[in-house]
Order: sequence, then C-alpha cells, then structure tokens
Amino acid sequence: MKLHEYQAKELFQKAGIPVPKGRLLTSRDKLGSVLEEIPGPPWVIKAQVHAGGRGKGGGVRLVKGQGEAAEAVAELLEKPLVTPQTTAEGVIVHQLLVEEGVDIDKEFYLGMTVDRKLACPTMIFSPSGGMEIEEVAKQSPDLIFKEPVNPATGWMPYQARNLIYKLSQVPGGYTVKELSSTMKKIYDLFVANDCSLLEINPLVITKQGSVIALDAKMTIDDNALYRHKDLAQLDDPREKDPLEVLAEAASLNYIRLNGNIGAMVNGAGLAMATMDVIKLAGAEPANFLDVGGGASEEMITKGFEIILKDERVRAILINIFGGILRCDVLARGVLEAAKKTDIDVPLIVRLEGTNVEEGRKILEESDLDFLVARDMAEAAELVAKEVKRQG
Ligand code: GDP
Ligand code: MN
Repeated sequence: MKLHEYQAKELFQKAGIPVPKGRLLTSRDKLGSVLEEIPGPPWVIKAQVHAGGRGKGGGVRLVKGQGEAAEAVAELLEKPLVTPQTTAEGVIVHQLLVEEGVDIDKEFYLGMTVDRKLACPTMIFSPSGGMEIEEVAKQSPDLIFKEPVNPATGWMPYQARNLIYKLSQVPGGYTVKELSSTMKKIYDLFVANDCSLLEINPLVITKQGSVIALDAKMTIDDNALYRHKDLAQLDDPREKDPLEVLAEAASLNYIRLNGNIGAMVNGAGLAMATMDVIKLAGAEPANFLDVGGGASEEMITKGFEIILKDERVRAILINIFGGILRCDVLARGVLEAAKKTDIDVPLIVRLEGTNVEEGRKILEESDLDFLVARDMAEAAELVAKEVKRQG
C-alpha cells in the first residue's frame, strides 16, 4: 500500500525527520486561509498522487505570490496529471500539498528498501538526488551508494559516516550530524512500519545549512497491514483500479491486466499457468484472478461479477481444479452471478476434481450458454478462437 507524500511527511514529522511546513488543500476556496498559515512566499504546490515524476509532469509548482498560487491550484486541482509514470490519460489530482518554499543548496537521494539479493534492509544514498535519479542510476551507477543493514544489530552510526564521506565535499560537522540522525530515523521508521520502500528524493541541504526532506515516498507491505490499523486507514482507493478495490473487499486475489480474456481460476499456481496457456494460444488475459482454495459461493459470485464488469472482456475462461473448493460450489456461484448480469461473451469452462460431475450437471441443467473444455490447452485454444472470431 502506497502512502501519499503528505501522509508520509506526517509520519516523518512525528519521527523527528525535518520536513517543510505544509498543509493539505482539497478545495480552491480554502487556499487563502492555508497560505496564511504557511511561511512564504515563495510556496510550493504539489499534486498528491501516487505516481512519481510529478515534477516532470508539472505537478510541482514553485509560486511567488497569492495570484500565482491560485493559478497553480486552478490548473491542478481535480484535473488529470500526466507524468512519465502514468498512462497518457493521467490521474486525477484530488488533493494538493501547499508548503513553504525552501532555498535548495544540494539535493541528495536517500532511500531504504529490502535488497532481495542480500536479503536484508538496505540504505541507498546518492549525492546526485533530484528528478534525474533514474538517469543517474543508469548512466553513473558509481554515484549510488548502498549500506546493507544487519537486522540483528540494526543501523550502526558508522554506516551513516560511510555514506556521508562518499560526498566529494563533506559538509560541516553540524550538517553531518543532522544527516546521520536522519538516516537512523529513516531506518527506524522503515522497520517500525513494515515498509517495503521508503524514499526521500530529494533530501536537501538548504542555503541556511539545515537538512530537510523535500519529498517523501512510503510503501507499506500489504501483508503487514493487519498490525498497522492506523496506516491501513490512510489507504486512498481513488488511486486504485475500481475493480481491484471491489476484489480486495471480497478477499479475492485479483490483478487487472491489459488483455481481453477474463479468467477465473483457483490457486495462484494454476492461475499463473492459465495465463501462460492463454498467451501460448495467442491471446491475452484481462486479469489474474485466484479465487483461492476455500472460496465460498459468494466469493465465486463476486469474482465472476467483477470479470463481467470489465468492459474489455470478450471471452471468459473458468479453470477450476476442485480440491477444497468443490466444483458444485463453483457452479452455483457462477449461476448466481449470471442471474444478476447478462453474460454477453462466450464462456469456456474446464472443471476437474472434487464433485466435478455434480458441478457439470448444475451448469448443464441451467440455461447458461457455455463450452466445455476437456483440458487446459483446449480451454485456452477455445477462448483464443472465440476472441479471434469476434475480430
Ligand atoms: P517528484 O517529481 O514527484 O519526485 O516531486 P518532488 O517532490 O521531488 O519535487 C520535484 C522537484 O521540485 C524537486 O526535485 C525539487 O528540485 C523541486 N522542489 C520541490 N520543493 C521545492 C522547494 O521548496 N524549493 C525549490 N526551489 N524547489 C523545490
Ligand atoms: Mn521526488
């Protein structure tokens, strides 16, 4: 789960990591009162969307007065923002963060993530932070420095010095102290909140010599959300695919993809294999959906409804190997969903396993129109053929 910049900065502030003074703005008419509370001009007005690269897309505006601020708000709020990380349509900006402008002297990159190869949390630091960090990583990887952290000892003060002394110009003692303390706090915050990513880009030294986190990115491991109820509440469903939001509410493992074959499968492994055979047959899946081993009739109904809601779906493949999930439960779930929605695309079913006879019988005795496939390969060929037939 991703946090918005303003949410992450609130956590930073509580942890004692310095951030600019700022206020969230959700409606144009509050701008005047918000500006009164924030030192400036200059102010910075920042679109709050999960997509990165906002600066490049015009989502970060440095404004020198009330008039310019009002213009920026009018251009950004409730409008789509296109960045290098969004689709061409962009994402709608519902919230802006208004902050005091900072006099930047140097921009660094400071991040923390779990390094999969080293299998431990790792601090990443670069003296060339800012909007071009991806280019820096590609062109001059020697400017990206890493400090893996042994979870048994935690972050050690010498590791901060290791990173800071990589700077060609080591700043004065006071700044070194501030940088090291920020690194330690970032590590603690990362661990305490079960983050998979924590990123400050840029972490700046101001012309006045203080260290400030100008940007903040935090991703929380979804599997740890059960023990961070307060963080789970910060989730912004507007940033997500609406079908994925429905699926999450129904405890279904659903991921929307780019193709046009709706797939309903039980078991993540079988679902992955099903995607593979669909592709092998020359077609593209519209989604990944693992209804899970112990899916109830309601879950099946919900899953099928979600597939039917996806306008791009031109054919549906149900591939179930009944184990704990019995084929008759699946059949009833599908019929239940079919009652609520018109199925106007071909349906291909491949059922095997527990209560398969009963499941087939339920489907056959219904007025549902579907094709039966004997095995997975045939199922994939049938859906691919159906989609090709539609042109
Ligand atoms: P991102 O593009 O989504 O990563 O958004 P950032 O929050 O990193 O902002 C992009 C860039 O805007 C930063 O790299 C800074 O160079 C610039 N910026 C952000 N806040 C300030 C500020 O207070 N003063 C100045 N001068 N520049 C800023
Ligand atoms: Mn940034």
